Amino acid sequence: MKTFKIAVLPGDGIGSEVTPICVEMLQSVANKCGEFNFELDTFDAGAACFARCGEALPGETAAAARQADAILLGAMGLPEVRYADGTEIAPQLDLRFMLELYAGVRPVKPIPGLPLPLLNPSKNPIDFVLVRESTEGLFASHGKGTVVDDSEATDTMKITRAVSEKLFDFSFRLARQRKAKGFEGRLTCVDKANVFASMAFFRKIFDEAAVRHHDLDSDHMYVDAAALNMVKQPWNMDVLVTENMFGDILSDLGAGLMGGMGMAPSADIGDDHAVFQPCHGSAPDIAGQGKANPTAMLLSGAMMLEWLGERHNLPSMTSASESITTAVERVFADGNLVPIELGGDVGTGEIFDRVMHALDS
Ligand code: ATP
Repeated sequence: MKTFKIAVLPGDGIGSEVTPICVEMLQSVANKCGEFNFELDTFDAGAACFARCGEALPGETAAAARQADAILLGAMGLPEVRYADGTEIAPQLDLRFMLELYAGVRPVKPIPGLPLPLLNPSKNPIDFVLVRESTEGLFASHGKGTVVDDSEATDTMKITRAVSEKLFDFSFRLARQRKAKGFEGRLTCVDKANVFASMAFFRKIFDEAAVRHHDLDSDHMYVDAAALNMVKQPWNMDVLVTENMFGDILSDLGAGLMGGMGMAPSADIGDDHAVFQPCHGSAPDIAGQGKANPTAMLLSGAMMLEWLGERHNLPSMTSASESITTAVERVFADGNLVPIELGGDVGTGEIFDRVMHALDS
């Protein structure tokens, strides 16, 4: 039986509330399947860690992350713990740079039964994926921006051919996998090519990749139009790929379509490593109160199983991933279970218990 080493980094705030239950769920799913095993070891990182020991991502944690088969991360950052320039401690960004996790995969798939912000008059359900480049773009300036004489500040957008080619090839492969499952198989490049040289370059590399993947449809959308269309007709979207900062903003809009940050899972994937974490941050306003919605974290665990299953050619792991997604959809289907975040009264523990019960039945 294959054992997978998972580095678990709960982090700050609600990260340390939703991560342990995801670990419990993964362990239970592995035990039940009996064809794979997990060695889930927890490591320190985050803003509280920085406040305690002066390091946001200690060497031992970074080494464990490098050696792991996958990394499960809760949430990191606390508003009151900051670097001297005023920016927040964000080791989750450092991990993306360090492990070259260029493809931030953010599925947008609202779960039927929940009170959602958008009426969907179309026959097509909302089910698309946003791929956010996660190692360069405007975030390449993280920790490097300048402020001159307290009168002018500059951050620089960086787009490289090497990373963009990998990003687009990854996104086209994702569109092809979806096409095989009955989706349209269309990749849309979201940019601002009409204004910025960096974005015109991004689009040029996209168009070159589209020629390599000519079996799939592709098109372009300016980022402002993408924001409009994500609200007006999100059911017409399939796979979107975009720059880091645009992706940061649009993925929160995607989470909004699902009802809130606590519903939105994500994966940051590179050639050799991957981090799985909910889209939300540490949400200090609700930390320690049992109010956090663990759904995004549990679905991120499912994404981890899907990625590992595919990478190691383990169909039983892929099935285990699907069983988690199905269990989550089932608990919300009748409309009686509404997380506090979505205006209901159900907190972390009850959602978790119901998902575990659905997995058992
Ligand atoms: P960051 O700035 O890193 O994105 P944050 O904690 O400031 O992190 P978000 O995580 O984006 O902000 O969350 C915004 C708000 O959404 C939180 O303050 C919280 O009220 C709510 N929220 C986020 N995640 C959850 C969750 N899992 N369950 C319930 N509410 C959540």
